[in-house]
Amino acid sequence: MIVDLIPKGAKNRPGGKNTMQYITLHDTGNPARGANALNHAKYLKNGPSVSWHYTVDDIRVVQHLPDSESAWHTGTNKGNTTSIGIEVCINSDGNLKAAYDRAAVLCATLCRAHGIPAANIVQHNFWNGKDCPKTMRAGSPYSFGTFLSRVKEHLEGETMDQNTSSDWVKELWEQAKALGITDGTRPRDPATREEVVAMLMRAVR
Ligand SMILES: [Zn+2]
Repeated sequence: MIVDLIPKGAKNRPGGKNTMQYITLHDTGNPARGANALNHAKYLKNGPSVSWHYTVDDIRVVQHLPDSESAWHTGTNKGNTTSIGIEVCINSDGNLKAAYDRAAVLCATLCRAHGIPAANIVQHNFWNGKDCPKTMRAGSPYSFGTFLSRVKEHLEGETMDQNTSSDWVKELWEQAKALGITDGTRPRDPATREEVVAMLMRAVR
């Protein structure tokens, strides 16, 4: 992911609060060759009267605004101040399916980071009736329902990863649990110095 923020003070960086309860999915509506995420980052810095948080193409994600700031992408004040906006590139020299697949991963990451339920991922259409994301609303590369199930798969996959120890340490992890050195929770989290001492002392007692 590339972070290339719209400068503070730009007219399309209003800077108000975004409550981050929803994610709004768009497509760029721009099938021109080269109309990828980098190109849209450039466009947003030229001061148009629109803005959003992320543009996703088939190989990258570019972030334009902090998640916690409002943006102008839904045509409604409510949508602009409660949702994170994602634009998916439809450039003809890109791979549309790869772009939407990548957007599903980004949605899962944002859902996890901000506690947004997958049910609150909405189309731009939800806010003001616009036919956006037009490609997906026409079933290309797949339906919005399929998109949501991909997001949920990523969320479930991440949950499983978070609660399962890595293969290389599995045997030692189980032994440490059996010996009472660790309670076996949060295998992938960092440990504080206190937790390290507690585990060492349980091991040598
Ligand atoms: Zn839109």
